[in-house]
Amino acid sequence: MKKVIIIGSGIGGLIAGNLLAKKGHQVTIFESHSRPGGYTAGFYRKGYYFESGTVSFEASASVFKAMKEIGVFEKIDFVKQKIRFVSEDLEGTPETYDDYKKMIYTAFPSDKEKLDTLFSDLDKIVGLMGDVDKPMPFLCSGLEMLTSMLHYIVNSPKLIKLSKQYGRMTSSEFAAKYFEKDSKLFKLFSGFGYPDMPAMFLGGAISGIFSDYWTVKGGMQSWADILAENFRKQGGELQLDSYVDKIITKNGSAVGVSCKNNVYDADYVISAGDYKKTLLKLLDDKSFISQELQDNIDKAAVSEGFFTVYLGLNMSNEELGKYMRVPHVFTFNNKPGYDIYNSEDSEFFSKTSVSFYSPSMVNPKHAPEGKSSLMLQSIVPYHWLNNWGGGDKDVYKQLKKKAMEAMIIGATGLIPNLKEYIAYRDAATPLTYERFTHNTAGASSAWSWNPKKKFYKNTMSVNIKTPVKNLYIGSCWAMQIGGVPGALAAAYQCAKNIK
Ligand SMILES: Cc1cc2nc3c(=O)[nH]c(=O)nc-3n(C[C@H](O)[C@H](O)[C@H](O)COP(=O)(O)OP(=O)(O)OC[C@H]3O[C@@H](n4cnc5c(N)ncnc54)[C@H](O)[C@@H]3O)c2cc1C
Repeated sequence: MKKVIIIGSGIGGLIAGNLLAKKGHQVTIFESHSRPGGYTAGFYRKGYYFESGTVSFEASASVFKAMKEIGVFEKIDFVKQKIRFVSEDLEGTPETYDDYKKMIYTAFPSDKEKLDTLFSDLDKIVGLMGDVDKPMPFLCSGLEMLTSMLHYIVNSPKLIKLSKQYGRMTSSEFAAKYFEKDSKLFKLFSGFGYPDMPAMFLGGAISGIFSDYWTVKGGMQSWADILAENFRKQGGELQLDSYVDKIITKNGSAVGVSCKNNVYDADYVISAGDYKKTLLKLLDDKSFISQELQDNIDKAAVSEGFFTVYLGLNMSNEELGKYMRVPHVFTFNNKPGYDIYNSEDSEFFSKTSVSFYSPSMVNPKHAPEGKSSLMLQSIVPYHWLNNWGGGDKDVYKQLKKKAMEAMIIGATGLIPNLKEYIAYRDAATPLTYERFTHNTAGASSAWSWNPKKKFYKNTMSVNIKTPVKNLYIGSCWAMQIGGVPGALAAAYQCAKNIK
């Protein structure tokens, strides 16, 4: 039995904790927030429930496998999501990649030839993405691992060829191969997912979002609570409101942590939160990390943060459903001048597209009877307007209000008169996300998705090891693309490495 300390109770920390406690190790999780979950959590305001981070996830085969192995699958009500797309040219709720293609062809008949060329390339990428019904190899061992890798082994020559072609290409570069820059179709394909994400992932993202997009009916907080409860039942200790301020090392090995002026010793420390802060801030002795690596970590780009508006509405779910149709709606209507890389544009929020998510349309219990809850979201330029006011609280409040109002006006394209129904409103900036989860700049999915700004050489590798012996990364930061799959893969690797 080993003594293991986990810093952070996001989905990564909770899964690692459960797997290690099940193996008989003595595990303590320290969580700075008052509730477990990190980005897989939620909160109530005035009777309305909202998600704190992710509203959905892909890679269900991996998530479900993990929940079954931990023994909580039956307790969590996973529900499949449908996504509706709306722009001035198209409207639809595709349920497969082929439905999506049909929707695009119908909306842009005069671009058929260009679309044929694009889709003949995209189809190849989608075809090689692997079977969504199979868990990621990182979660498997023995024969199961071999089976889950079979697709990649059999197709390795084609995968190598595609990686050479598209490995370092961004989604904007991919879209520019087929369409005029600034054309509607260029904007549609380059604007899918994270800005300038790898062209290799565009196919996976498009097909995954229709066929494998899930949420939890009870809300993400219910998922985190179930995992936390199971962890405690197995003898694990979860200390909430407990910020770890130092990782203690001895002779190049992690030997414990300090929290609220107490020192806790351990055989292993798993940092299940932000990578940059783990190595540059929490570590008591940085002498084992070369200056070059410290500089690389410091400079490495992180994924974009979100701005989210939380609305409690004096509108029934039925009424809201007339506009939304499904709980999750993406709009593609960036206005002229929209530039995700322009942090100085004070009118950014009047130009950005809005994504809509209604927790109460997934579960009416997420709002008071006869009412509904709605979240409006947009990806934000890094450090918008001197990082939201350069530390001045009043300016911060004004900017937050301005952004919130612009997003609400933007949302009236889908829900006219939205303003008249608002009973509760608040918003989260990337600074809010950082305050609650400690993720650098409110990074929503660990490192940058841009293949030209990679921190790890291999986009698909799981990197739990650090220059410090017995200090592992158990969060989504262990993988370049982060996300729920990244957190899961990291948690499993940590559990495998601690015998
Ligand atoms: C708006 C939004 C949308 C998203 N959409 C998707 C999606 O569609 N699909 C997908 O796969 N992913 C999505 N994600 C990303 C996904 O939610 C995260 O990648 C994942 O939940 C991260 O889990 P984690 O356990 O690695 O870390 P986190 O959830 O960040 O948890 C880290 C935890 O560690 C705690 N902590 C950190 N430092 C300390 C310390 N020093 N002491 C004590 N505690 C500490 C934090 O408080 C936090 O609870 C989205 C994220 C956001 C914000």
